[in-house]
Amino acid sequence: MGQIHIMDELLSNKIAAGEVVERPTSVVKELVENAVDAGSTSIEILLEDAGLTTIQVIDNGHGMSAEDALVSFMRHATSKINNEYDLFRIRTLGFRGEALASIASVSKVKLETSDGEEGIAVTIEGGHTVEQRPGSLRKGTAITVAQLFYNTPARLKYMKTIQTELGHTIDLINRLALCYPTIAFKLMHHDHLLLQTNGRGDLQQVLAAIYGVANAKKMVYFEGQSNDYKIYGYTTIPEITRASKNYMSIFVNGRWVKHYTVQKSLIDAYHTFLPIGRAPISVIHIEGDPHLTDVNVHPAKQQIRLSKEGDLMALIEKTVHAAIRVKMQAPEVEQKK
Ligand code: ADP
Ligand code: MG
Repeated sequence: MGQIHIMDELLSNKIAAGEVVERPTSVVKELVENAVDAGSTSIEILLEDAGLTTIQVIDNGHGMSAEDALVSFMRHATSKINNEYDLFRIRTLGFRGEALASIASVSKVKLETSDGEEGIAVTIEGGHTVEQRPGSLRKGTAITVAQLFYNTPARLKYMKTIQTELGHTIDLINRLALCYPTIAFKLMHHDHLLLQTNGRGDLQQVLAAIYGVANAKKMVYFEGQSNDYKIYGYTTIPEITRASKNYMSIFVNGRWVKHYTVQKSLIDAYHTFLPIGRAPISVIHIEGDPHLTDVNVHPAKQQIRLSKEGDLMALIEKTVHAAIRVKMQAPEVEQKK
């Protein structure tokens, strides 16, 4: 008799959840990314106890049909890629079809969604559908994740204080707001408003909402283009620096990524203007054909491989350096996007 068997889906979802759902912030990230992929122009995030008690994300995107809503919680269920060709040309934030299945396996989820024609409300606990009924016809999706990790006590125990968890989520939403100035974001913790952007597409206004008006005013706009990449963003003049590189946000085709080399090019662009050990506050948007980027490196999709990296780094250094020089020589010139 063989000893090997294929594990049931609930068990494999729980294992995948270990990778995808590390902490409340990971849930917020997956839910908000789904809202972005659904073409939303308004996304509200409401948290209780930093998301450990509840996380609610409400969007005005295209929503789902009743049939899709039920399928969406199955592992590897996605509307975003169909074949291997698509995998190398990803234009959406999600594509693995794992998030909802993973989240639902370690929490109690209520999904209410409508594509404008039909509405459905589904309740799922620990991966089991416990209720489904017709829901509102308001186009968009509201998803509530309650009691995260209620059935994985070891993970729950590992959670840090409310303040630490909340800090991670505030940072995440700040980055997403910088990434998508055309989406109105609202982040609430209990009844405290932590961030609100207007969705009018003005990146400098988002910078002001996050880093303060005074800092935003001391940032220069830059833009440049090479054969393969287009870049633009804002970075502080050398007067405003930080001891940490955490104030540098890098976005590649609408995805917040951590990329050491891009970070280094931004710092190198300052040449000797920047004191050693200091970093600017910067936002850089990098756009290129999706086949030049490989995001399928890690389940959290925060690491990315970029082709023609050398050319891109040269472009960043040259463009950002030129923008800083101009501003330092003519500080009275108003920068505009
Ligand atoms: P992925 O985003 O990788 O496709 P998910 O598990 O996050 O996988 O979501 C599964 C599917 O559910 C998505 O492909 C999408 O079709 C649908 N979906 C999830 N959230 C939303 C939402 N907020 N609005 C519309 N559709 C959604
Ligand atoms: Mg997703």
